[in-house]
Amino acid sequence: MGRASPLDVYALLDKSNCKECGYETCMAFATDILERKVRVQDCTHLMQDPKQAKNRNKLIEITTPPQKPVRIGVGEREVVIGGEEVLMRHQLTYYNETAIFLEIPDDLAESDLVEMVKYLTDLTVERIGDVLKINGIALRCVSGEADNFKAAAKKIAEISNLPVMLCCFNADNLLAAAGEIKDKRPLLYAATKDTWEQIGKFAVQNNLPMVATSTDIEELMSLSATLQKLGVKELVLDAGTLFGSGNLAATYDNIIQIRTAAIDKEDVNAGWPIMGVPAAYWSQVEVKDKDELWRHQYQEIIMGAMMIAVATSLIVLHTGQKKEDIWALLALMTMRQTVYSDPRIYPAVDAGLYQVGEPGPMAPIFVTSNYRMTKIPVEQDLKSGNIDSWLLVVDSEGIGIESAVAGGQFNAGSIAEAVKEFKAFDKVDHRILIIPGMAARLSGALEDEADAWVVVGPRDSSGIIKYMDTQWKPEEFMKQYEDLKE
Ligand code: SF4
Repeated sequence: MGRASPLDVYALLDKSNCKECGYETCMAFATDILERKVRVQDCTHLMQDPKQAKNRNKLIEITTPPQKPVRIGVGEREVVIGGEEVLMRHQLTYYNETAIFLEIPDDLAESDLVEMVKYLTDLTVERIGDVLKINGIALRCVSGEADNFKAAAKKIAEISNLPVMLCCFNADNLLAAAGEIKDKRPLLYAATKDTWEQIGKFAVQNNLPMVATSTDIEELMSLSATLQKLGVKELVLDAGTLFGSGNLAATYDNIIQIRTAAIDKEDVNAGWPIMGVPAAYWSQVEVKDKDELWRHQYQEIIMGAMMIAVATSLIVLHTGQKKEDIWALLALMTMRQTVYSDPRIYPAVDAGLYQVGEPGPMAPIFVTSNYRMTKIPVEQDLKSGNIDSWLLVVDSEGIGIESAVAGGQFNAGSIAEAVKEFKAFDKVDHRILIIPGMAARLSGALEDEADAWVVVGPRDSSGIIKYMDTQWKPEEFMKQYEDLKE
């Protein structure tokens, strides 16, 4: 089935333009359904009018992606996994990035558990305009005791709004803990060929997402079919994460095989989010030498990186649960940010004059391009250096400085135009522009075009603080400018 068009969606809507969904027209709503900004359920007419049930069901059918989405948790940290329409990002885009869950054992002392959960809940990293976070906690039943597992699940639900994945192969213990926090919509991990019925029935009764697992793909597909028949509405597939010689390739193949069956072949049994457990490293390998711990951690993180690279919907990590292992999360979250950037969105920001801090009459004006990955780091460096200033962002068609200077998109004329358009010199009592080191060759022409005194700043914005300390002499620059004018 091909991708539905806005007209296909519109044809099934009420077409009354009632605005109850917050949109001016049904057509605008139809467009945003396809962009996943709203859901069919947001159209009150379609949901409440029994006469429109047929259209509603048809609309849900044509807008449901071949890999169905699964929701874990509730509230503002709820995470949606899967829901992808394409195998390769460049074919359209990926919608839901790999969710990163950190495992926590249920046998920790309560104070240690609280400290770890709070650290993971509050963990944020800002990078080129995005705030990177982890997505959930995977609570492992290490104690083997239902009471311990239940108590730890309750504690986590009480102190954190992160989604929880309950991990236990003893179905009784798993469901005992799930019963305690079912209003938080935990993900149940995991049903096997021996426990599918017990866990599946509980998931159906309580409308919870669950995982089916088997390292045998045929068995996994059979489990998926059976659970759907039982009425399970949100399923996640785990084909196993295996370490050791040849197993990285086998794990990779399983993920690709299931994603291909889901998206290219529209196999309904494969059409669910797929997860992996790099944390399984620690139960599959004996760690004898603690001094070599980092080598083992690398193995786990390499598996995590491979899984993110092939758009695995959710991964569970062990390394990264403690503050000293932040390096692991930084590496994987940065990689995830890159893999899941939207290829349809040009990496540009609006041209304009941006204020940093409280610039006074002799505050510097820095010039840069409107390439997102240039403007945001420069602005961050100015802010972190507490440099009260103006940042003049020139339209370089979203291209970085070096290439845009070479290609002519960032030139003396376009900078001078931006100076005029955004009234840069009306904000200060000088006519000095600081251009990036990589655009040094534009300085002469720019002085003429913008009637300015142009100074060349550092090649990289990380050098701005030093530049301000050692080379920023506005009065001296203005004297030179005025002498030249005479
Ligand atoms: S609520 Fe439904 S009928 Fe009303 S404008 Fe939105 S899409 Fe159209």
